[in-house]
Amino acid sequence: MISSVKGTHDILPGEVEKWQYVERVARELCGRYGYVEIRTPVIEREELFVKGTGGTTDIVQKEMYTFTDKGGERISLRPEATPSMVRAYVEHALEQALPVVKLFTMGPMFRHERPQKGRYRQFHQLNVEVFGQNDPAIDAEVIDLAWSLVAGLGIARAELVINSVGCAACRPKFQEALLAALGDDLPRLCQDCQRRAKTNPLRIYDCKVEADQPIIDRLPHSVDYLCEPCATHFAGVKAQLDAWGIPWRISHRLVRGLDYYTRTTFEVLGETLGAQNAILGGGRYDGLVKDLGGPDRTGIGFAAGLERLVLALPDGSTAAAPARAFVVAIGDDGRAEALRLLRELRQAGLPAQMELEARGMKAQMKRADRLQARIALIVGGDELARGEVTLRDMRTGDQRAVPRPGVVEAARALLA
Ligand code: AMP
Repeated sequence: MISSVKGTHDILPGEVEKWQYVERVARELCGRYGYVEIRTPVIEREELFVKGTGGTTDIVQKEMYTFTDKGGERISLRPEATPSMVRAYVEHALEQALPVVKLFTMGPMFRHERPQKGRYRQFHQLNVEVFGQNDPAIDAEVIDLAWSLVAGLGIARAELVINSVGCAACRPKFQEALLAALGDDLPRLCQDCQRRAKTNPLRIYDCKVEADQPIIDRLPHSVDYLCEPCATHFAGVKAQLDAWGIPWRISHRLVRGLDYYTRTTFEVLGETLGAQNAILGGGRYDGLVKDLGGPDRTGIGFAAGLERLVLALPDGSTAAAPARAFVVAIGDDGRAEALRLLRELRQAGLPAQMELEARGMKAQMKRADRLQARIALIVGGDELARGEVTLRDMRTGDQRAVPRPGVVEAARALLA
C-alpha cells in the first residue's frame, strides 16, 4: 500500500460534512460583509514569497516547498495566500475593476513543518484581505468578521488578542529599545533568538523556548513606542471594537511571524486546541503592495486555519443529511420500472438511491436501512399491474399503495 505523504490528511466522508459547514458559514459571512471571492493558483514564483512573506522568515527559510520545474523556473507551493492576493490585485489592477477591494479565498497551503495535532504540511485557510483602506474602522471591520466567524460557528471559549507593531517611522526606535533592554541577556537566549536579534529582533517575541520566557517577559512593549499617527490609529481600532461590543485583550507578544506587518496585529485563540491554539491571525501590511511592485496602497487581512476551525467546532453543529428515498425493485419488470422511477425522483430534485446490482428484496431493504433512507418505494409485478407503487415509511413501517402518476409528489411530501 502506498500511504499518504507525512503531514497531509484525507478528509473522509463523515468528516467532510464539518468542512462543508465551516466553508458555508465562512462564505455566507464574507458575502454579508461585502467580501468577494477570488481564487489564485497554488503554485507561484518562489520570489513572490521571498519578497512578500520575507526572506528571513521561518516560512521561507525552512518550510517552503520549492522546486525547479521542467522549464527551469523556481516554483513554490504557496505557504500562505496574502502575497498571491497582492500579486493578483496588482496584476489585474483590481482597484480599477472593483468598487472596493475586499477579497476572500479558501484553499490549501503548504509548509514543511513538524506535523502534530492542528499542524500539518498541507493545511487549508480562509483568507480575507482589504486593499487601499486606511481608517481604523476597516481594521475593526476585519477583526469583527474574524470574530463573528468564530462566534457564528458556535466556538465558545475563544479569545481575541490585539497589538500594534507600529510602522517604518516608529519601529526602529522600538527595535533599538528592545535590543538595549536585552543587553547582556542576549547570549543567554536560544540560537533562534540570537539569529532573530540580527535579522528581525521583533520576532524574539515569537520564541516558545521555556528558558527564554523570563527574559522575554521583561522586554519593552511596542505600544509604548508608537509614533503619534500609529497611536491614534490603534486608539481608533480599540474604540470601534468597544463600540461594537467585541471583547479584546492586548498581547504585547503578538508581533506575528511575518515581515510585512504594520500597525494592527490580531489573533483569535481557541481554548480547546492545545499547543496549536491560534485559530486565526492577521494584521495590517501597509507597505506590502508597493514592495511587490504595485501602487502605494495599504492592506489588512487575516488567515483562519480551516483544520483548527473544524477541530474547535462544538459537537453536532453540522446539519443532518437531507432525507432520502430508496427504490426497491421486485423482479425484472419491477426493475425496469424502478430504474425509471429512480431517475424521475432525482430529476424532481429528491435524493434517491437504488441497489443497482440485482439482489433480493431482503438485501435491498437492508441496504435501505444502512443508508438510513426515510422512505422506500417498492416497485413489483403486482403493484405494476395495478398501476401503483408501494410507499413505505422506514421509521414507522407504515405502507400504502400510491397511484404511479402521483408517486413523486407523495415521496416529496414524506421527505419534507
Ligand atoms: P499564519 O499564516 O501562520 O498566520 O497562520 C494563520 C492560521 O493558519 C493559523 O492561526 C492556523 O489556524 C493556520 N495554520 C498555520 N499553519 C498551519 C499548519 N501548519 N497546519 C494547520 N494550520 C495552520
